[in-house]
Amino acid sequence: MGSIRIDVYDRNEYDIWFAAAPADATVKPAKTLRQWAQEQGADITYNLAWFNMVGKGNDQYGVIKGRTLQDLRCKGVMCGYGGTAERLTLDSGNYVSGVKVAIKDCVVQKGLTTSRVNACSRNMCGMLADGRYIHVQSSDGCTEDEVARYVNGKYTVALLLVQDAGGSTGMYRASDGYLFAPQKEGTNGRPVCSVVCIKAKNKKQEDSKVGKKVFIGVGHGGSDPGAAANGLVEKTVNLTMAQALCDELVRHGVEVRMSREKDENDTVAQEVSECNAYGPDLAVEVHNNAGGGKGFEAYIYPGSATGRKMAENIESEVKAIGQSSRGIKTSTGFMWVRSTKAPSVLLEGFFVDGADHTKFDTVAEQRAMGVAYAKGVLKTLGIAYVTPADEGAAVEKLQDAMDKVQKAAGLDNDTMGYLLAYEYGAELIYKLAAAVK
Ligand SMILES: [Zn+2]
Repeated sequence: MGSIRIDVYDRNEYDIWFAAAPADATVKPAKTLRQWAQEQGADITYNLAWFNMVGKGNDQYGVIKGRTLQDLRCKGVMCGYGGTAERLTLDSGNYVSGVKVAIKDCVVQKGLTTSRVNACSRNMCGMLADGRYIHVQSSDGCTEDEVARYVNGKYTVALLLVQDAGGSTGMYRASDGYLFAPQKEGTNGRPVCSVVCIKAKNKKQEDSKVGKKVFIGVGHGGSDPGAAANGLVEKTVNLTMAQALCDELVRHGVEVRMSREKDENDTVAQEVSECNAYGPDLAVEVHNNAGGGKGFEAYIYPGSATGRKMAENIESEVKAIGQSSRGIKTSTGFMWVRSTKAPSVLLEGFFVDGADHTKFDTVAEQRAMGVAYAKGVLKTLGIAYVTPADEGAAVEKLQDAMDKVQKAAGLDNDTMGYLLAYEYGAELIYKLAAAVK
């Protein structure tokens, strides 16, 4: 038998909703169902449809990625993706319909496949007797019957449905009798039917030691150089400043995502989409200016109180390193400040073609600007800035602890490297050092 994975979700702890794809899309949509789900804040997205996950044979479309559907208009009803914000939730009136019921009231149903001829990977979903949602994924090599019996042996299952192919898969709303499912195959082959989205309520931000996330948009990139003058190319300067900003935030325990970390195409629309999917506490877009003039300026969306606070905090740090300011301005024209959901700011550090370009024509000077930005962002987050000197002392302390552990345990340098590379390596090393005293 192949592998079976079972996930169970208590709806007191998780939001669970569905989205389905339309039957009759003829044009390529802006996004896939999975992208939609991500933007809706899903932590986990399952494919409900019957697909060959390993991409064999005629069903090589496998996962939902890349399947293309414009909206969710099925039988004239909009749901979820692309059309309205409606989410279909799992309750007694709404359930996911498959052509086959695998388990009903703890009884494995007849008619499930018992041969392996058709058994590629399957998704099953349903409800346990206690109301929890159950999602089952099996690899090829499992028959439906085997999966159902296995699940039934482990849980008290009220209902488990096998997601079957094409037109028979989807979301059924009992109240109005609609089946949100494709009724025919799309022009590119079998249409993707539906996804289930899972999001933890009161999600813990475990990746961040201080519970804060910042998104950094790095202006321009790739075939779009931005402003260029005096041997300075904006896309490169932006990246240097942004990288320094990122480094400082990370050093203070903030979780950071950058829109790009190298020279590559990176449109504002992509940045905004990525930022909104990431869901940061604050969002910063790094640019530099051109058009004659000098000085720093910051743009915020009108009425954004936190955006203004962040801009003011950054501005004062920028002034502290000797750069003048043209002030904090509001804009509805910049897509960045208009479309980011988090409080955001767009920064123009200096004029690459202006008199102040000499203040920022080295990497060290550009990084200093990034550090100034970081100080302003940290202040906005309520995090005290720690100077690198303090950090230096911490590094020395860690080095002492590593020496102690290495000698006591007779470990080689590679092993010490692995230890340190571990996410909580430093904490572990301190504990080990204390233990070997
Ligand atoms: Zn720019």
